[in-house]
Amino acid sequence: MDALRRNGSLSRVEIARLSGLTPQAIRNIVDDLLQTNLIRETGRRKGFRGQPQINIEINPDGGYSLGFHAEAGILHHVAANLGGQIVYEGKSLPIPRSKADMLETIAEIDAKSQHELKGLMRLGVGAVFSRPASSKWFIHEQSPEEFAAQSQALAGYFDEEIVFENDANAAALAESMFGLVRAGGNFVYIFVGEGVGGGIVDAGEPVRGVRGNAGEFGHILIDPNGEKCHCGNNGCLHGYLSIGGLRRKYKDVSLEPSSVPDEWINSAASALGRALVSLENILDPERVIVGGTAPEWLLAEIVSRLARQDFPSVRSELAEQRLEISKLGSRSALLGAAALSLLNVTNPSLAKLTKQSFSLDDIVATPRVNANVKSS
Ligand SMILES: [Zn+2]
Repeated sequence: MDALRRNGSLSRVEIARLSGLTPQAIRNIVDDLLQTNLIRETGRRKGFRGQPQINIEINPDGGYSLGFHAEAGILHHVAANLGGQIVYEGKSLPIPRSKADMLETIAEIDAKSQHELKGLMRLGVGAVFSRPASSKWFIHEQSPEEFAAQSQALAGYFDEEIVFENDANAAALAESMFGLVRAGGNFVYIFVGEGVGGGIVDAGEPVRGVRGNAGEFGHILIDPNGEKCHCGNNGCLHGYLSIGGLRRKYKDVSLEPSSVPDEWINSAASALGRALVSLENILDPERVIVGGTAPEWLLAEIVSRLARQDFPSVRSELAEQRLEISKLGSRSALLGAAALSLLNVTNPSLAKLTKQSFSLDDIVATPRVNANVKSS
């Protein structure tokens, strides 16, 4: 499935060569997958020698995945088919506070989406939150108990496997399924939304860290004398670049071009420039993509101002543009939520990773006490 996703269509002989399995094993596996409708035959093609080969490709209608994104008190949901096309987008709803109300909302969404997608098999469910896993950091005014009740409702409702992820990692995965990056790419993704996060993708695989929080770029230190951050440090990137930070500083701001102060955009660009130096020097990525739920005009404005400043790094002397803006728009994390379980089906090592590293317990667990705090 991974070979097909990367290459479009292949013959059985080619799949055998790419996977390292025997032609007989591949014939059996292909027969099984044809039975389940996950792949389909696309007709004959002349081989280099001998018999013409029958090509195989992923069947877009072989199934779909349902993705949820909870942000700023609103639950968004979307369904994508195996071909990576959005096949259903439901109405966004306020997130209920109690587990019982949450279960009711999910049941409504389930009934409506199943009705709209009649005949398609659901392969999995992905849920994306705007916070790190196993952490006491809450960006919004939401209690840990509420958050636990909501995620337990989601995890308990569906028969299918549900994959949890934070918004920035999900948006990065969406980029490799729907966006700028080819399958197997190497890039760093900076997510700008209510908070600032990120994802590191190496050879198509997310780099996750022990608790799944690798790429928490929002807490790169920009100014030790800066404002206190919810993480406990001062002057984190989050405070300069996030929409939450903008709202805290200018109470009545809207996200229209005429409303966001010039001064804020300049300081956001300068903070991002400093953070970029660290990211490029540490990770030496092929590409750096910036996206998230912040409006595209704002990201473009910040990136254009950053280009006029001088923040050298190991990567800054390349002739190419240092930062690219995602084309997925503000739905990137939501698309990522749907991509999660599709990638789970089509990418063997990602499936292994998601199974190993992210459980409901990880999401709602009480965080470990920071060693420094403990000793004091
Ligand atoms: Zn911080």
